[in-house]
Amino acid sequence: MPYLPYEFLPTEYHYSWEIPLWVKEYNGSRRFLWIPQDDLMCPETQQFHQILAQPQIFDNITIFNEDSSAFARNKYDDISLKRILNILWNDPGSVSGHSKIRLFSDEWAWVYENMSLGYEIRVDRLLNVTHAILSSNTSANAAIFNAVDGDPSFWKFLMRLFMDRNEYDLYMKYIKMLLTPIYKAIGWIGNESDWNTSVLRSTLFPYAVLFNIDNSTSQAVNLFNQLVSNCTGRTSNYVNCNPLSPDIRKAVYCGAILNGTGSVYTQMKTYVQDAWKNNRYFSREEESLEYGLTCTQDPDNIKDLVYFFINNGHAHALENFEFNNKASDVLYNILLNDSQAIINASALRPFLYGMTGLWYSNTRLTQMKNLNTTLSKLDLNNDTQNILNEYVNKVSNASQKGELFYPKVTRWVYDTLVPIGQTPWKLRLPTDQVADSYTLHIFPYIPSSYTSPPGKEFTFDGTNKIVLNITNATSTLSLNTHRHIINSLTVQDVNNNTLPIAMFARDYENAIMEIKLQNPLAVGAQVTVTIDYIGFIFSQPTAGVMVNYDYLEINGQRSWIFATHFERGPSARSLAPCLDEPSYKAKWKITLYHPSDLVALGNMLEESIMVFPGLIRTVFKQTPPMSSYLLALSIGDYASLKAVTKVDKVLVRVWTWNGMQNYVEKALQSAVDTLDYMSTYLNQPCPLGKLDLVALPQFIGRAEGAMENWGLILGDYNEFLWHPDYSDTDTLNRVMEVISHETTHQWFGDLISPAWWQYLFLNEGFASYLYIDVISNYYPQQQAYADSRWFYNSESAMTEEESFGGLLPTIPEPSLVGSGQEGMFSISIYSKAAAILKMLKDTVGNVTFQTALRQYFKENQYTAVTDETLWGYVSQAAANAGIPNWNYDGFLNVSSFMRPYTYQSLYPLIKVVTSPDGYFYKYQQYPFLSNLTVNQTNFYNQLWPIPIFTRTPNANDNSYNWLISQNSVSMQNTDPWKVTNPERTSFARVCSFKTFANSCQNSVYGTGKCNPVAPDFRATQMCYGLQQNKNSYNVLENLINVVQSSLETTYFPQDYNAMLNGLSCVPDESILEKYIRYSLQGYYPTQLLDYVAQNDVLPNGSRLYNFMVNNLIDVVKSTNFERFVQNMVVGWSTDAQLSQVFPILT
Ligand SMILES: [Zn+2]
Repeated sequence: MPYLPYEFLPTEYHYSWEIPLWVKEYNGSRRFLWIPQDDLMCPETQQFHQILAQPQIFDNITIFNEDSSAFARNKYDDISLKRILNILWNDPGSVSGHSKIRLFSDEWAWVYENMSLGYEIRVDRLLNVTHAILSSNTSANAAIFNAVDGDPSFWKFLMRLFMDRNEYDLYMKYIKMLLTPIYKAIGWIGNESDWNTSVLRSTLFPYAVLFNIDNSTSQAVNLFNQLVSNCTGRTSNYVNCNPLSPDIRKAVYCGAILNGTGSVYTQMKTYVQDAWKNNRYFSREEESLEYGLTCTQDPDNIKDLVYFFINNGHAHALENFEFNNKASDVLYNILLNDSQAIINASALRPFLYGMTGLWYSNTRLTQMKNLNTTLSKLDLNNDTQNILNEYVNKVSNASQKGELFYPKVTRWVYDTLVPIGQTPWKLRLPTDQVADSYTLHIFPYIPSSYTSPPGKEFTFDGTNKIVLNITNATSTLSLNTHRHIINSLTVQDVNNNTLPIAMFARDYENAIMEIKLQNPLAVGAQVTVTIDYIGFIFSQPTAGVMVNYDYLEINGQRSWIFATHFERGPSARSLAPCLDEPSYKAKWKITLYHPSDLVALGNMLEESIMVFPGLIRTVFKQTPPMSSYLLALSIGDYASLKAVTKVDKVLVRVWTWNGMQNYVEKALQSAVDTLDYMSTYLNQPCPLGKLDLVALPQFIGRAEGAMENWGLILGDYNEFLWHPDYSDTDTLNRVMEVISHETTHQWFGDLISPAWWQYLFLNEGFASYLYIDVISNYYPQQQAYADSRWFYNSESAMTEEESFGGLLPTIPEPSLVGSGQEGMFSISIYSKAAAILKMLKDTVGNVTFQTALRQYFKENQYTAVTDETLWGYVSQAAANAGIPNWNYDGFLNVSSFMRPYTYQSLYPLIKVVTSPDGYFYKYQQYPFLSNLTVNQTNFYNQLWPIPIFTRTPNANDNSYNWLISQNSVSMQNTDPWKVTNPERTSFARVCSFKTFANSCQNSVYGTGKCNPVAPDFRATQMCYGLQQNKNSYNVLENLINVVQSSLETTYFPQDYNAMLNGLSCVPDESILEKYIRYSLQGYYPTQLLDYVAQNDVLPNGSRLYNFMVNNLIDVVKSTNFERFVQNMVVGWSTDAQLSQVFPILT
């Protein structure tokens, strides 16, 4: 196709060419082919074309127009471009320089053309190509760099975009990455006869010194000193004593000015005056010196230079200020205060050229217009006025381009060079300030009925007014800000006086901004920081500020949704500059602009609404003090079911995309029930007076559930929608659980928040616990289900630790938060915390626990707390109830009780040890695992204070005895039976193997009545028990002999299977081999072979294989051969294992 769109071309031509094309194939070979003209008027060419046009020939081609052989540009689609980028990164040498230049030039031409035509541009592709070809280009390939700095120069375009912006330092990461490898590959001196090297030095080095690449400016200073010392004693014609190659002088002069002392500046002025006088016919030297001088960053020198150039008749040199970002404002002030001097010297044009070289923003356009207005009031002649008008136009065009491109390029730089987010953000803010309130305006641009201005799509405009109270005297304000373009920033005191800012700096890796004020602030001072900025919206559902894209509505329409998720990843700091740590609670007043046909939701209800054409401005009521991670906003074509709670009369709405609202009925019921239950249980009304829940068609990922944002729960529709014809009871359970869990957070997490992320269990432990009480309370017929959820909590926590070999503790050390197997949201903070909290409740009793929680909320609402805050309230309530501590040294110390469970991982195993005569027993505790594979903290020597609950025929209450050391005292066995840790009240496993072994060893009735452990746990009991007590295998053998003949085994094989499973765990290999043989011979059932395979701890699952190698005849002759082989290969999946099978069989 022709390069330009047809609409721009004359119609009388037929735009088609026969194109001879060299292509490079994926395997590296080159091939020639024709792309035929599509003009098929003559039959001969038609036939020729049919031969040529064989589409399959394209299959393996990666680079078209290899070496730029055909006179044509290439436009790859995204997939083929990605393939080329892969080759450029992984095997850059396989792509010729010509092909790289063609690739870059064609992408740049495409962007440049579309920019001129006002079309959508794909700057991301251009940046990816530039990144790949320059970063991998470590040789002196002048041609490649010159393509980037060609005409039009992409390099200068990039500089104009960012050099006058607040994200200058972010871009420097990119610039350094691109230039450092090439810079290092060349060197300043040597190889001067190589044109390639020399040309690259002259084009690249001025940029290298300007951006302070590697050692470039110190090298420049050294070289300049060589010049000075070589010319010592001379008073004119310095060019004759200059030892430097002319190719590097521009860069040396600029670098020396940037990094050298004041004398460099004075010396260079002498040199340039000499050059003006004596080098008439070789002006390169004076150009280089003029250029070098204008690199100065010193405002006094800049001012001095302006008059120096003008007074010496070299005003044209002012154009060199074009890329000096410090000069703009100095020049601007000169023009404002001494305009006649510039105008009278006819220096206005080069002056404005230098001043506006980097003016590519709306802020600068306003400045330029104001300047024009001010100067126009003077008595200007027509020429002068025309020049001014010309520059207003120039800056107007430039700012249009800048505003269009800058967000796109900045987004790419953020995406490529800065972490998308951290969970959690590790570097904390200094504690010199607290936030009082935020006034936030957000205008998001997503695909909708409202047409976004050019370049705005998937960005948002934001303004945030942040009121800070100073708690330690400081002159530095620190805020979190992430993935923002800061347009402007001001700081004011309480009297609205603007406080001068010395500088502001950003740490992009940690998303922290420091504003350094010229004067310190005293304790108690209040300041308001106002920031005008642009943020980015992810074009897909993910943590941060995001959308649901192009989802299908029930009426066949396709729509987009705007939503947020801040408990992970980019976090609230990507929505607004703020103190983004949970302990900095502050009030938020949010204004949201959105398309008129969409519903806008926030943490609070609306306070006012203003309607514009196609647009609504919704102002939400101010929130109470809250943690930033609980902020939420959403805009969508939503519909809802609504209800009002019984207790507090709170409005509850469950929203979903239009057409699906009928299926949120169960979710609505669960939310209402939970709100009623919680406000009654805690004697604390629903905090915000409303609760919205939104079932999103796309959440941040499958199985991510929902997020408990305060007053606005957002989540995956699978957790919200229940359809009577399509959904099963499991789905219903899931809906009830998730909705109730998130609603519980409105108190636990939202009203009281964790002071830092290590205390997240205060949110998740209670939410994973209290929803079960809600189910028990409102659905008493489902009590069995509720009970099973309790068991699920403790069992899932234990098995997870077992399978990972230990997890991070429930309260990890701050440096470890987020670093464990499951990141910040490990099962330790959900299920384990819930099980521990329930143990605490059962130990102190329901009433005491509830009393403690009520007081805890009464006194800590709207604050952030630690574990000790909560334990303090439970201790107090326990003391009031007269509950003694385990050693009777006072009342129960809940902190001492809880800390071993929360600060160390794993959990205790309780052993019940019975004396041989059966009259006495005692308890022992051990950590369930001892070989820890993860970074474990072990503050409490792996001992836990365990309330041991027991159940006997005579006592069925919740009485308990404490086991606080390794061994308890011996106690007399007075009961016919005793169950230790019934319903697993304590967070511990009970190892009852010995008890079982003792009491069942002489049983003649099987194991049913003599085993104290419930059938569900016996497989584990026996396997683990035999591993620990390997000599007890004969007890199991005896029992198996007894029960083999029993009728019970036939009808209730579970216990029998548990014993067979136990035998397969015997650690002694020769004994295990005996059992395998028994089972091959039919003496033991063949299930034993299944268990041997399941419990095989050898590498590669080779237990049965080894047996077969050593006992081949026994195995192949057995009637159970097939079962044996099936089990032998359980879990085998490698070629090596496959090849093991055949040799032994042949
Ligand atoms: Zn939760």
